[in-house]
Formats: sequence, structure tokens, C-alpha cells
Amino acid sequence: MSDKKTAIVTGGSRGIGRAICLRLAKEGINLVINYAGNHEAAQDTKTACEQLGASVVLVQGDVSRAEDCEALFSAAAERFGRVDIVVNNAGITRDNLIIRMSEEDFDRVIEVNLKGVWNMLKLAARAMMKQRYGRIINLTSVVGVTGNAGQSNYAASKAGVIGMTKSLARELASRGVTVNAVAPGYIDTDMTASLSDEVKAMVKNNIPMGRTGRAEEVAALVGFLAGDQAGYITGQVVHVDGGMVM
Ligand code: NAP
Repeated sequence: MSDKKTAIVTGGSRGIGRAICLRLAKEGINLVINYAGNHEAAQDTKTACEQLGASVVLVQGDVSRAEDCEALFSAAAERFGRVDIVVNNAGITRDNLIIRMSEEDFDRVIEVNLKGVWNMLKLAARAMMKQRYGRIINLTSVVGVTGNAGQSNYAASKAGVIGMTKSLARELASRGVTVNAVAPGYIDTDMTASLSDEVKAMVKNNIPMGRTGRAEEVAALVGFLAGDQAGYITGQVVHVDGGMVM
């Protein structure tokens, strides 16, 4: 058992998830870090968080599988005795124009990005309602608000995350549990690295600040929403996008 707060972060091995883990570790929060399969990256994030003083449990699992999500909550209960913060960050893309997109690619993105968040929310709600405290932060995207050619599956999943965030915020508001969504714009991670130079240039032209974002800039907001000072903020979608969507 620990007096420190405990957070579960999905997709914490790389990119934005890794930056969120480091941010929470700096604030003295214990971590259960989930990842899909990249053991090396996950171990590296764990070591970096431990160097900041956090206790860390790594749990490999697929958030689209309910039993894998249950394993995250069991790990938190066994090692730390509590869950105060849940960050639903794991996400994938399988981009294509709708006329070329396979049903499999549509289904997989919905399974991971939408059903995966729902699996986690169900468990988080159960744990947090009882203790009458909790902070839930879901990663959505500007694309869930604006749509994007070639991302009908991803946009649908991220718009769905916004709808679930607002619904659960209403369900849990009287129980001391806040539920918010963070909508990054274009952030430099592995997810965006594979875009063509042409698409990258086009995206950059649409960012009023004229630059792409850093994972740490998203993590800073997640860190705030996860803290006690954010106790009167719920059901919100906060953009970290250099002004892309106003
Ligand atoms: P990323 O660099 O591709 O990292 C994805 C992370 O999710 C990895 O830790 C990966 O684990 C994990 N993951 C993938 N599928 C999973 C599954 N089924 N179950 C559990 N974990 C899984 O992505 P990112 O750019 O940091 O994005 C993080 C979140 O922000 C996503 O929800 C994304 O949609 C959202 N977002 C990103 C941007 C952007 O510009 N980058 C913009 C808007 C929103 P492994 O390392 O083991 O593969």
C-alpha cells in the first residue's frame, strides 16, 4: 500500500503516453503503464519514470480486450491498493479514403480507440465511484471535431470518445470524479512520423502557430487535469493544437 496517488496510463510506452507517464512520475504519482507489444520502449519508459522516483508496474495488453483492461486494475490494486487517475491514451490509425478502406481497418480502429476506452471507463467508474474521487482523461483528437479526409475510422472513434467523455462526466459528477478529454492537434510522435512530406507541409500550413506540437505540451495539460486543482473541471474537451481548431 502507498499513500501516493496511483495512475493507470494506457499506451504509455511511446509518444504522448510516455510523456504523460514522465509528467505524472515527476509529480510523485505511482504508475501502472500499459503497452501493446513494444517491450523495449515500455521498459525504457519504466526506467525513466523510476529515475524520477515513481514506483512503476508494466503491463502488456490490448485495450480492446476487456480482460486485458481488468489486468491493469488488478495490478494497481495489488501493487498500490488504489487507482486515482486513469489516462486513456492508447490509440492507432489505419488511414485510407473510405472507398479504399477495408472493413477490417474500420473495425480495428473502432475496437482499439473507442471500445478500448469504453472498457477502461467501465472499470474506472466502478473503482472511483466507491472511493468518491477520481480523475479520468481521455485522448481524443482535433480530427474527432473537424473530421479529416482519409480518416473516417479514426475520426469516428475520436468523436465517439468525446461523446463518451461527456456522458460519463454527467454520470460521475456528483461522485467527485471528473472526466475530461484532451484533443491534440499535430504532435511529433511515431504516429505522425509516417505521414508524407506533402501532408506534413499541408498540416503545418493550417497551424496558426506555424509549428507542430511536442508530446510534453500535451502531457502538461494531462498533468493539470489529473491534479487536485482541476477538481471543478469536467466534461470538457481541451485542445492542445497551436490554434488549429478555435
Ligand atoms: P504512438 O506514438 O503511435 O503510440 C501509441 C501507443 O499506444 C504506444 O504506446 C502503443 O504501444 C500503444 N497501443 C497501440 N495499440 C494499443 C492497444 N491495442 N492496446 C494498448 N496499447 C496500445 O501514438 P501517439 O502519437 O503518442 O498518440 C497517443 C494518443 O494521442 C492516441 O490516442 C492518438 O490517437 C492521440 N493523438 C495523437 C496525435 C498526434 O499528432 N500524435 C494527435 C491527436 C491525437 P506499443 O509501443 O507497445 O506499440
